Amino acid sequence: MSTIAENIAKVRERIREAAQASQRDPEAVGLLAVSKTKPAAAIREAHAAGQHDFGENYLQEALAKQAELADLDLVWHFIGPIQSNKTKPIAEHFHWVHSVDRLKIAQRLSEQRPAHLPPLNICLQVNVSGEASKSGCTPEELPALAQAVTQLPRLRLRGLMTIPEPSDDPQAQRVPLARLRQLRDALQADLDALSMGMSQDLEAAIAEGATWVRIGTALFGARDYGSPH
Ligand SMILES: *Cc1c(COP(=O)(O)O)cnc(C)c1O
Repeated sequence: MSTIAENIAKVRERIREAAQASQRDPEAVGLLAVSKTKPAAAIREAHAAGQHDFGENYLQEALAKQAELADLDLVWHFIGPIQSNKTKPIAEHFHWVHSVDRLKIAQRLSEQRPAHLPPLNICLQVNVSGEASKSGCTPEELPALAQAVTQLPRLRLRGLMTIPEPSDDPQAQRVPLARLRQLRDALQADLDALSMGMSQDLEAAIAEGATWVRIGTALFGARDYGSPH
């Protein structure tokens, strides 16, 4: 089994090759290490290998790990579904939220963002594959939501996020990713972030303009959902 440091090196190499293949600057693609269900020790190991940005989906689990890792200088991204009664700790303990899909959540995050912290970086999650079960606003809802979020004083709208339907076919993978980029471009706002691409489709995502790839399995191994998180 490879170590986390070896996996980070491999993923960074995949990012570099994919960026070069699209004449993009590899530095323009951020690696977000998705550490959900993984222990604080795994994050510590990744940090020792030069990783600073970490993505978490489950609030209680994330807060426990943040407390354990308070001695490290880490950038925390919330990427999971958000219930409205959980917005306050998210506004207090994260630097980015990638999974905002309705105005009520955005309003609460803005109201609850502590005054001593900079505005919270926001990506709006869009459901581009149109699956009924997935979170995310519809492409039709996006322009009004984006317009409203830009008015919220304690948020900084950075861009869009999507979780497409999984596919093994690199060409098919690109369709929803291209759609997210088109939706971003059509907003005519100054949005620099496209959060898309996971372990399976990071090459397709980089080809379509991703600025954050969210990588879990390829860094930390398969997740065990049998244990409580
Ligand atoms: C779990 C998760 C990931 C990471 O997926 P992998 O396939 O393990 O790389 C990325 N984004 C979100 C929103 C996730 O929930």
